[in-house]
Amino acid sequence: HTSPKPPPIPSPLRFSKFFQSNMRILVTGGAGFIGSHLVDKLMENEKNEVIVADNYFTGSKVNLKKWIGHPRFELIRHDVTEPLLVEVDRIYHLACPASPIFYKYNPVKTIKTNVMGTLNMLGLAKRVGARILLTSTSEVYGDPLVHPQNESYWGNVNPIGVRSCYDEGKRVAETLMFDYHRQHGIEIRIARIFNTYGPRMNIDDGRVVSNFIAQAIRDEPLTVQAPGTQTRSFCYVSDMVDGLIRLMEGDHTGPINIGNPGEFTMLELAENVKELINPKVKIAMVENTPDDPRQRKPDISKAKELLGWEPKVKLRDGLPLMENDFRTRLERPRKC
Ligand code: NAD
Ligand code: UDP
Ligand code: UDP
Repeated sequence: HTSPKPPPIPSPLRFSKFFQSNMRILVTGGAGFIGSHLVDKLMENEKNEVIVADNYFTGSKVNLKKWIGHPRFELIRHDVTEPLLVEVDRIYHLACPASPIFYKYNPVKTIKTNVMGTLNMLGLAKRVGARILLTSTSEVYGDPLVHPQNESYWGNVNPIGVRSCYDEGKRVAETLMFDYHRQHGIEIRIARIFNTYGPRMNIDDGRVVSNFIAQAIRDEPLTVQAPGTQTRSFCYVSDMVDGLIRLMEGDHTGPINIGNPGEFTMLELAENVKELINPKVKIAMVENTPDDPRQRKPDISKAKELLGWEPKVKLRDGLPLMENDFRTRLERPRKC
């Protein structure tokens, strides 16, 4: 004897279609740097309801303070390594520490966040029929032997190094995304994010742009890690958010590189910060960390062609915007 099945609960996806474009959106890691800017953009649309799930490891409620109490906004203290039951149409899955200092602090937790966290969000996507976007990373290319990096490059990653919890973690997360897509028909999107900077970055999080700007403001030497000829390509956060939303709402699973192809050596970056923020500051060469990729620059042909996206903000325009935010938070106004 089996008891009769209850009638199916209408999925939020069907609900949304019925009411046209009303959208309930989950942003994991929404209290962080990129996540909070994404939330700002999503909240601009009055048809969106936004739920943030974050454990505040590297993020903060302060980043979301203007939305707390808003009727279309909800904030949940939640660790994505635990199951989450909510009803949503879209999942932007960002939860994961992004700065090497933080992801190396507890590498086992970083792996759990990438693997169990992504598995849980995929289980959620499967249950409610939501579309899910993973913020993967240019680190999946490791120390790349192809330059610039395009999406078909499989990468050169050390599986047992100190960065592996992050880069191999994201590679497994990408695999999980594709397996859920192939096996369960989940709608997926994968963004491979290249170095992103802007207001609200943690001031002492150890990433190069935040370090240099904070150091320039505090009159401390800019710490260029040897040899200083290694390159990165820096994308301003508003461009990044625009790219992520286009990817989510477009028709392509990805992976798609989202980043700014303007490539700089770390010495050039230091020179730019010095010139724009504090011409008197010194530049000091310091020791590097293991497995530091020597070069990195996105090939963004796919983003241009498939999403009609390319970054608008040049490094020299973005750095002063970040300086303003850092000066406010450090209480060090510009001297006239
Ligand atoms: P961030 O550290 O500012 O934000 C990450 C957020 O995730 C934080 O609010 C943190 O508290 C939260 N979080 C971490 N572990 C969690 C867990 N287990 N459960 C719930 N919440 C958790 O970093 P960001 O720069 O905003 O990066 C966001 C995403 O973009 C990350 O997935 C990162 O890997 C990816 N990404 C960022 C960059 C970059 O340059 N900023 C580059 C490549 C990829
Ligand atoms: N999950 C979740 N929220 C949901 C549905 C599932 O967090 O709304 C988690 C669930 O706890 C499981 C994971 O997602 O650990 C994968 O779920 P799935 O249904 O794919 O696999 P199964 O539960 O069969 O292992
Ligand atoms: N770096 C630096 N000085 C710093 C911090 C970082 O020269 O104070 C260098 C680092 O060696 C790397 C690059 O800047 O080559 C980018 O490092 P970051 O941690 O910002 O990001 P990654 O791309 O390595 O994840």
